[in-house]
Amino acid sequence: MQAVLIDGDGIGPEVTAAACRVVAAAGVKVDWIRAPAGAAAAADYGDPLPDETLELIRRYRVALKGPVTTPVGRGFRSVNVRLRQGLDLFASVRPVTSLAGVTTPYENVDLVVVRENTEGLYAGLEHEVVPGVVESVRLVTRAAAERIVRFAFELARARGRRVVTFCHKADVMRLSDGLFLECARAVADDYPFVLFDEKAIDNVCLELAADPTRFDVLVMENQFGDLISDLCAGLVGGLGVVPGANIGGRNAVFEAVHGSAPDIAGTGRANPIAVVRSAAMLLDHVGRHEAAAQIERAVAATLQAGVGLTPDLGGSGTTATLTDELVRQVAR
Ligand code: NAD
Repeated sequence: MQAVLIDGDGIGPEVTAAACRVVAAAGVKVDWIRAPAGAAAAADYGDPLPDETLELIRRYRVALKGPVTTPVGRGFRSVNVRLRQGLDLFASVRPVTSLAGVTTPYENVDLVVVRENTEGLYAGLEHEVVPGVVESVRLVTRAAAERIVRFAFELARARGRRVVTFCHKADVMRLSDGLFLECARAVADDYPFVLFDEKAIDNVCLELAADPTRFDVLVMENQFGDLISDLCAGLVGGLGVVPGANIGGRNAVFEAVHGSAPDIAGTGRANPIAVVRSAAMLLDHVGRHEAAAQIERAVAATLQAGVGLTPDLGGSGTTATLTDELVRQVAR
């Protein structure tokens, strides 16, 4: 099969290379089509997301992406936002599960964060009203709100999940989240066999900290989803282990929740598991279910064996030792 590969910045090339090795060890022959994005692309093409990269993803439909660095408060618009909007990757899906062998305050966490990926405060609609006063538009459209909630219910249906919780702040943002909530309720009516719950986002944070096992599928707008994804990653072992997917009607881009981690880039301390599991999600998406499951089993076995683990997992290993162990486990 063919798939696009974006190495990304910082630890990106280290962890995506690890993922490619594990996929190969699982017996899937992937012809990875390299596409530029991020800081290196900005230097070479004058654009951190060249049109050619979007075209390649449109052609091959699936991509594995390393994280890219986004300058804070200046320079280029976020590559991730442009990618999600440009390819209409409207749904971000992040499965958050407890992993045996990773010590955390919680056990048996098994939830999925579904985040609207194209609108809300990250629509990129900001302007200066007068010097010293700026405005950000929090865009909510009925079409996008209904689409993401329907996606969450379809996911629940396909995976036999019981509850979809819609997270919002409609008491304060009465118009924007008011519309979103109205859409969520209408879509929920269509799925009487899945329980529907609606909760204020601040309450959700409290309950996640108290007992994350209460949750099943969570669905919400863009910025809330961004924050909740990182929070949930922290519940099960951190950014190094949680995978993710950005899914549209036609294209899908798979990437970890974490960023380019410039503080550890080049030191060999990067945990490749989040990107390895994102690659497994890609395989699952294209119908290679057994290979995807094989990789997930290898991750579980590696964590349980505690061999070669990187410092974020309490080990003294490196990206290379952890990847070697994953490859060994997947090939068993
Ligand atoms: P980050 O996720 O890169 O790092 C946060 C902390 O987690 C750091 O201490 C880092 O060392 C650690 N960490 C992250 N991934 C790890 C891994 N695989 N193994 C071990 N430790 C890991 O977040 P940040 O520092 O806020 O962002 C750095 C850059 O990444 C920024 O430019 C940001 O815009 C970008 N970013 C990109 C994406 C993406 O491309 N999808 C996502 C988030 C952030």
